[in-house]
Amino acid sequence: MIIIDGVPWRNWRRLFGNLEGFVAHGEARVWKMRSVLPSTSATCYASIHTGLPPQVTQVWGNEAIRRLDFPDIFSAVTGAGGRTGAVAHSFWSEFFNRAPFDVVRDIEYDEPGGPITHGRFHTMYGYNLINQATPADVDLFGTLTRLCERHGIDYGMLHTCTLDSMGHRFFHDCQEMDHACYALDAQLAPFVRRWRDKGYEVIVTADHGQDARGHHGGADDLQRDFALYYFGDAEGPGKDVLLDQLQLAPTILTRMGVPVPETMRAAPFLAG
Ligand SMILES: [Zn+2]
Repeated sequence: MIIIDGVPWRNWRRLFGNLEGFVAHGEARVWKMRSVLPSTSATCYASIHTGLPPQVTQVWGNEAIRRLDFPDIFSAVTGAGGRTGAVAHSFWSEFFNRAPFDVVRDIEYDEPGGPITHGRFHTMYGYNLINQATPADVDLFGTLTRLCERHGIDYGMLHTCTLDSMGHRFFHDCQEMDHACYALDAQLAPFVRRWRDKGYEVIVTADHGQDARGHHGGADDLQRDFALYYFGDAEGPGKDVLLDQLQLAPTILTRMGVPVPETMRAAPFLAG
């Protein structure tokens, strides 16, 4: 699962030519998905992976980082004997493995007992509007591929803040964002093909959107809605069905044949 932070629906369908090309060529399908409320990053990360709403996880904002005590995709997969990998911002390690984040101990770990079997994290420490402090996306894609090909992970999650940071800085109706989406799409495409060739199903999506001023957190459609691209053999709903972000966790576990924890109440959107 590839999570490109902070990309609104209109940017996906307009600017990601390779992803749209995979759809046109019949290799992928695309739906609109709506985030939980608040449409805040950390809040969404927690709900994406636990399938629980923020009113249950109590992740009210980006300051509420702690080890969550709910079942999530990582713990369910490793509990069923699978191997997981994460290449992501440190919040993901804190939510789903341990907190607080220790930049030496937790920057890279290989822990057979899980819940994150192979973790590769970054902090974006020092982030501000003129220094995004994000890694190169191709480096992140390469790192996840390394976990697939060297460690044989069954589930891999990659998260990058590049475009969320670009949106906060430049907003969306500008040359800078046009190019940033174009560049990320071109970096991602060859890896999608490589993961598919290895037999992985692939989901590319966002955690939330952004409005015209680069804002998110609220209930506006621009802030909440984003695309979900799916590469795989499962049957999905009609193309106009609006997906719920809480469906992601049970959908992924179902596709993997992993028992879905009873805390994940939303219906999977892929079957077969
Ligand atoms: Zn975000």
